[in-house]
Amino acid sequence: MYSSGLYNNLVYNTNMPYPMFHLSFFIFCISLVGIFAIVGSGFRKEIGLKDVKHLSLLFFVGSVGSLFPDVPAVWNYILNGSMQHTRIWMIPTHSLLFGIVAFVLAMMLGYLVYRDSSKAMSLGIFAEAAFLSHLLLDDIAEGGLTYLYPVYNEPMSIFVFMNVRLSGVDFFYYNFACFVSVFFIFAVMFMALLALKDLGFGFRYEPIE
Ligand SMILES: [Zn+2]
Repeated sequence: MYSSGLYNNLVYNTNMPYPMFHLSFFIFCISLVGIFAIVGSGFRKEIGLKDVKHLSLLFFVGSVGSLFPDVPAVWNYILNGSMQHTRIWMIPTHSLLFGIVAFVLAMMLGYLVYRDSSKAMSLGIFAEAAFLSHLLLDDIAEGGLTYLYPVYNEPMSIFVFMNVRLSGVDFFYYNFACFVSVFFIFAVMFMALLALKDLGFGFRYEPIE
């Protein structure tokens, strides 16, 4: 059972990070390497018109992916006049299920555009990183997301130990929880990096003289 506070938070709370926050967090923080490379190549005049199409697609997929979990806000606003944003009917959108939907949709779009399964997969991973970056912010802001729905339906928070007094919890558990929080952020950034690497952004160590 939900505790009443958590239940209220999950079902009725209309607080959420602004869409612009989700969008700019993904573009400027998670995809920082992409921005860095585009600006660098732009200054060296290495970006042509044909690249604009490809880069626009990445921008589009990243933007939609980073807002995808809040699709019910639009849906519920039109149908019910409410801003309930975490569920379509009883199906939680901040969940594994919707993460898979985002991944598959982006992968299909990638295949249509590139006709290449590796690039299609990378576009799917890029969308998934955007999707997860949304959950990351929501978890920090509100806590308690049904990450693993439909496999596991209880709300969980990965960042629950970010703001506790050290003495208040078991030391090893606290450290493990911190590691999980950091690993989640790492995983989201790493997915974006991997995807971008396959989509034209090469990164490697160049030894200095
Ligand atoms: Zn959200």
